[in-house]
Amino acid sequence: MNSNSPKFEYYRKAAATVIKALKARGFEAYFAADRDEARELALSLIPEGSSVGWGGSMTLSETGIVDAVKNGSYDAIVREKAATPEERREVFSRIAVCDYFLMSTNAITVDGQLVNVDGTANRVAYLCFGPANVIVVTGMNKLVANVAEGESRARNVAAPPNAMRLGRRTPCSVTGKCADCQSDDCICCQTVITRRSPGGRIKVILIGEDLGL
Ligand code: SF4
Repeated sequence: MNSNSPKFEYYRKAAATVIKALKARGFEAYFAADRDEARELALSLIPEGSSVGWGGSMTLSETGIVDAVKNGSYDAIVREKAATPEERREVFSRIAVCDYFLMSTNAITVDGQLVNVDGTANRVAYLCFGPANVIVVTGMNKLVANVAEGESRARNVAAPPNAMRLGRRTPCSVTGKCADCQSDDCICCQTVITRRSPGGRIKVILIGEDLGL
């Protein structure tokens, strides 16, 4: 994004407001002007040799953070390498006690709260507890006014394309509209509001770009 554009200026100023709110809630918080700066910042937060896991995320893909971790001097925990249910269980167990867990968020409020919906809930479980550190990377396009707006964004903006991306057979995959479904393929089984992060365990990187879903 052009750093002289009004939109970038808005993102930069709004990020400063959100960072202040996040810090008051115990999060560590940073601003990166673009995806490249975000990638380098995220990597600078992770000591070499750390065990690193991550949740499925368009933002992580677009920033190149996962590829950089896989190719860097880290103990990258790659879920895709697990071929059997036993191996998958082993991988999930390793992520549960890893040094750093990487993810994005479905929404972030101006007053510094994270809003996430999840189907299997491994991502939100690791956000809540387990990994020693969590790094949340998000474009400023996910900024919302309050938790209610965040829940609406998660259901009506993020979930339908995510359900399509994951090949889920849900009403929103067909119509593009949330039907508050009870499908076995539903990716909205859990809604987690993260309103505080004692000791800076969760580190949030706000990016001055539109990223992810
Ligand atoms: S239709 Fe189901 S899976 Fe799709 S957004 Fe609504 S609750 Fe989530």
